[in-house]
Formats: sequence, structure tokens, C-alpha cells
Amino acid sequence: MAVERTLAILKPDCVRKNLQGEVLSRIQKAGFRVLGFRQMRLTPQTAGAFYAVHRGRPFYDGLVEFMSSGPCVPIALEKENAVADFRKLIGATDPKDAEPGTIRKLFADNKGENIVHGSDSPENGRIEVAFFFSESDLV
Ligand code: UDP
Ligand code: MG
Repeated sequence: MAVERTLAILKPDCVRKNLQGEVLSRIQKAGFRVLGFRQMRLTPQTAGAFYAVHRGRPFYDGLVEFMSSGPCVPIALEKENAVADFRKLIGATDPKDAEPGTIRKLFADNKGENIVHGSDSPENGRIEVAFFFSESDLV
């Protein structure tokens, strides 16, 4: 299996609930290496650009508002099969549909405020890591 990068974002609801440490601990225990880590507040423009693929969807404006509503924590991760393994760890987008024991099932309130982002393909993993981190910051 190939070593891949994937981008996690601990979303503003995760930070508001003070769950950054709890969620990162679960990510690390699952074998992901942290290459980069920062706390920041996204502007609506930056949040909109990050989620540009969803522009035009009914949930887009609410998503941009939520993602810029407070601090978040982008984390660059690396692991064999990182993209699929991370999505398995976090569970389905809607916590109602997420498997027991997944991060979203355990901690998320609803489909919009669902604690954590995960990249959806190895290609997007690299693109999304580069959205928040320059190569020289990945160690
Ligand atoms: N989202 C939402 N309503 C929806 C679908 C998605 O609010 O019906 C939000 C949710 O925060 C989700 C993000 O938009 O995590 C991106 O959606 P995507 O379908 O890519 O889900 P993900 O890859 O995060 O599981
Ligand atoms: Mg997605």
C-alpha cells in the first residue's frame, strides 16, 4: 500500500467543544503521523475557496458560514492508505449514518457540524495539504 497524505481539519465545533486533544489522540492512536499542525480562523473567502467544489449546493453558504465561525485546526497527516483509513476513522458525513466508534458518531451533532474534515482521494489529499501548508512546514 502506498504512503499517502490526507488533510484533517478539526472544525470550529470541535474547537468550541474543547475536543481538539481528544480527536487528535484518536487520530494518532490510529497510526497517522502528524506532518503539520496549526490553529487559525478561516475568512469566509478562504472557507469558500477550500470548499469550492460544493459551490452551488444548497448547503454551501451555511458551510462557509460555519467554517469561518471560529478557530479551526488544519492537520497534515501521513500514513499508508491514509485517505481511506482516515475516512473510516471519522465515519459518514452525517453522524446519524456513521458507524459506532467513529469520531463523527461519537462527537458530531449533525451533518453540517460534524467535527472533522477528511480528504476524499489521494490527489485531493495532496492538494488540500498544500492549501494550508507549504512543503517546508511539513516535517
Ligand atoms: N455538508 C452539509 N450538508 C450536506 C452535506 C455536507 O452541511 O448535506 C457539509 C458537512 O460539513 C460536510 C461538508 O459539507 O462535512 C462537505 O461535504 P462532503 O459531502 O464533502 O462531506 P465529507 O467529505 O466532509 O464527509
Ligand atoms: Mg468531502
